[in-house]
Amino acid sequence: MSEIKGRIHSFESLGAVDGPGVRYVIFMQGCPLRCKYCHNRDTREYSLGKKYPVDDIVNQVKRYVAYMGKDGGVTVTGGEPLLQIEFVTELFKKLKENNIHTALDTSGFVNTEKLGDLLKYTDLVLLDIKHMDLNEHLKLTGVSNEKIKLFAKYLSDNGIPMWIRHVLVPGITDSEEHLISLREFIKTLKTVEKVEVLGYHTLGASKWELCEEDYPLKGVPEATKEDVKRAKKILEIE
Ligand code: SF4
Repeated sequence: MSEIKGRIHSFESLGAVDGPGVRYVIFMQGCPLRCKYCHNRDTREYSLGKKYPVDDIVNQVKRYVAYMGKDGGVTVTGGEPLLQIEFVTELFKKLKENNIHTALDTSGFVNTEKLGDLLKYTDLVLLDIKHMDLNEHLKLTGVSNEKIKLFAKYLSDNGIPMWIRHVLVPGITDSEEHLISLREFIKTLKTVEKVEVLGYHTLGASKWELCEEDYPLKGVPEATKEDVKRAKKILEIE
């Protein structure tokens, strides 16, 4: 029995976009970033999450194992899961005891010395790189990207498989210079299995209104298929 509890926003039992195969997705509550395009604005404040014990979640996940097939598993996302390292470590440890694939979807904003044993039980990291330029990153997310780059290098040095994900926002994260810089950074990492370009959309804007805040990217157009195609070409993934 584990007494550790996590503050969680919500669950999605049959997710298909956050990692390989069919995923049971856990949205953790709390995030230290302030991304202007955040599509999960309601996951930001840590104190609003409902507390769940690790064992309850593992038991819940086990009911869905049959749907996960050989590629699927559990993805922990948010919010920012690395705000609750102790909980995620215990959760992943128990999931691995049950042979369930574990994926961590994160902004990578963490001091690597705080990771403890987490990566021992993590099969895959989905690392969201928001911007390569320090000042642009600060403007977009409210924090520096230095820790995030160090985290990526740490994953690479320790042989942890990762998928790099990048949200393409017209006029903000789509310049050729930035995408080339991202491409060259990815080339320095040894364990990148996949690079995903996620076109910016405005589906999360209503959540800002529910939180009684103005949506910061009002008026910024969504990324088109052509925009995504162009970015993929520069990143040399298509
Ligand atoms: S890291 Fe994710 S959850 Fe946190 S503010 Fe940015 S987009 Fe929102």
